[in-house]
Amino acid sequence: MMLLTKKMIQIRSLLQSIGQSESLTLPSIVVIGSQSSGKSSVLEAIVGHEFLPKGNNMVTRRPIELTLVNTPNAQAEFAEFPAMGLGRITDFSQVQKTLTDLNLAVPAEQCVSDEPIQLQIYSPNVPDLSLIDLPGYIQVTGMDQPPELKEKIAALCEKYIQPPNVILAISAADVDLANSTALRASRRVDPRGERTIGVITKMDLVDANRGLSMLMDKKYPLRLGYVGVVCRVPTSGATMLFNRGNSNISDAVVKNEKAYFSSHPEFAPNSPVSTGTLTLKQKLMHVLEQTMASSLKETSEVVRQELAEATYEFKVQYNDRPLSAETYLAESLDSFKHSFRGFADDFGREQVRALLKHELDQQVLNILAQKYWNRPLEDITPPLPETDPLTDLPKADPEHPLWHLKLDTSTSSLTKLGIGRLATTVVAASLQTHIDSLIGNSTFAAHPFARQAITEASTSILRDLSYDIADELEICVKPYKYRIHLEDSEWSKGRENISKVLKNELKDCENAIKYVEDQVGGKRKLRDVMGFIDRVRSGQVVLEGNGVGGAGGFSAALLTKGREAVFLRDRAGIIRLRLTAVKSKQCASKNNKYYCPEVFLDAVADKLTTTADLFLDAEMLSKFYYSFPRELDTRLGRSLTKSDIERFAREDPKIKRHLDVVRRKELLEHVLKEMEGLRQLENGARVRSGRR
Ligand code: GDP
Repeated sequence: MMLLTKKMIQIRSLLQSIGQSESLTLPSIVVIGSQSSGKSSVLEAIVGHEFLPKGNNMVTRRPIELTLVNTPNAQAEFAEFPAMGLGRITDFSQVQKTLTDLNLAVPAEQCVSDEPIQLQIYSPNVPDLSLIDLPGYIQVTGMDQPPELKEKIAALCEKYIQPPNVILAISAADVDLANSTALRASRRVDPRGERTIGVITKMDLVDANRGLSMLMDKKYPLRLGYVGVVCRVPTSGATMLFNRGNSNISDAVVKNEKAYFSSHPEFAPNSPVSTGTLTLKQKLMHVLEQTMASSLKETSEVVRQELAEATYEFKVQYNDRPLSAETYLAESLDSFKHSFRGFADDFGREQVRALLKHELDQQVLNILAQKYWNRPLEDITPPLPETDPLTDLPKADPEHPLWHLKLDTSTSSLTKLGIGRLATTVVAASLQTHIDSLIGNSTFAAHPFARQAITEASTSILRDLSYDIADELEICVKPYKYRIHLEDSEWSKGRENISKVLKNELKDCENAIKYVEDQVGGKRKLRDVMGFIDRVRSGQVVLEGNGVGGAGGFSAALLTKGREAVFLRDRAGIIRLRLTAVKSKQCASKNNKYYCPEVFLDAVADKLTTTADLFLDAEMLSKFYYSFPRELDTRLGRSLTKSDIERFAREDPKIKRHLDVVRRKELLEHVLKEMEGLRQLENGARVRSGRR
């Protein structure tokens, strides 16, 4: 029937893992004793390892919920702190260190904490037991200890020694039993001595007769009886050496203990008293099993009630909608991929074309400004001979080689600007922006981890694609670097388009002037400073210094704004002029390309765009649309562990709550089923053995 204890202990751990409620408690053995009564030595003899914090000043400040799991076929022994995720610890001095750290983490002014430390030990040498080690009672408060420590420890113990727990009351043989704090505490909550096991330690320190009479104590008779032990680990040099590290100390303790009890006839095998840690272990197993069995019915009732509550919450809050971290991830991923497909359907060659053409339009404007519309307007010193920027733009002379050269260099500026790199960068950036907004509108928005995974997926694919595509596209546009042939239709399309571009640019210039106007505080003020700058430029006014500290009654800042406005005004003037030129009859024919570089360059830009959009549609978009969903499957599917997925889902507090309810409900269902099974087993055993 040890199966029962094992199962119940498993259930206990399960319930702990979901944060069991106060009402849902499974019995455990609670170990109490005053400081130095030998409490730690008893526990360590049971476990077979030194693992509890030691040291003069060391007070256990938190309860340790110790779960011992018998692993009959296992070779290795190891410990786990399930709440801390440290994994398996095979070095028990490490366990001791961790417990010490956890204890020291409780602030001194708080004295003790009732938040238990969970520790599980797996070994073929331990029985299945659930024990709770509590801080030892102290008699007098030390100088450096808070005065209320004594009361706080007593209160903490009081809380744990309530039914249905079994009390393991440790008293040392060299102290009168009437003075045993452990027994006094136990007596208060268990006056009839029904669920207390008395342990008398340090039997070797008292006369055997006296020891015997303590074990047969009649003043506080215990139904479960007393056990006398000698738990001190013998400290001969050889054993010390042997005990160092991780070897099991049980054998050494037992051997030492046997040597003592067998040398005293009072404790001969036919004596009426129980002695030895082995006997104690047996008793603990037996008593825990009995207690577990008798609390089975009551506990399953509580579980049933908790389950009913969880089921109700699940129905009312979540409409019985099942959810697991895995399905949540799968659904989120599906719907994200669905929205991505929607985007991919709408974002094709045409959209790429618009992006690229807009980019090249800007490049054309820049080239025009540099090569054709250029005049040194930016600075007000030195004064320029020109007076009116609108009238003295050089006129194009198609016969003159200068005008051929100008158009040729402008054209090659455009064809050689590195369209491969430019186009891939623009398209990749736009795709990335779209992906970002798809994420923002998806369930992944609330999941930093997934956001990052998706963003990384797209950036890495786009980076890889861009690298090759930029070079290949450059090769595609190579022919245009040598010769451009335009059809009439291409010319007129260019003329139409550049008119629009110029008009927009003009509007931008005018808006920018307005903006400067607002910044300086009005039309009038701006006009005044612009007038001044114009006069300086035409040499009517001579500027002292270079105007750094202001000039003509205008501050330096105002002059800067004025120069900006003058530049914009002149640019607007030139654009107006060129718009008229583009619209003129001369520019209607491609034969007059030297008069109309704007139209020619636009037509070239259009040719480049057509080549690029075709290529990018085939190479970049389709490859990205193919790879991206697969990369998502990898990053958010196959490469994730179960705990990754769990962590992901729980990032969203709403999902976390939903998952918690589902988990709790499933767990309680599972627990209840297990308990029902155990009850049937137990009933069967009772009938067979004739117990009632
Ligand atoms: P705790 O403070 O109640 O945990 O007590 P410990 O287990 O740390 O023991 C206090 C002291 O008593 C230590 O020095 C132990 O070596 C010693 N001790 C524990 N059990 C025995 C025993 O059975 N016999 C003897 N002689 N000393 C013991």
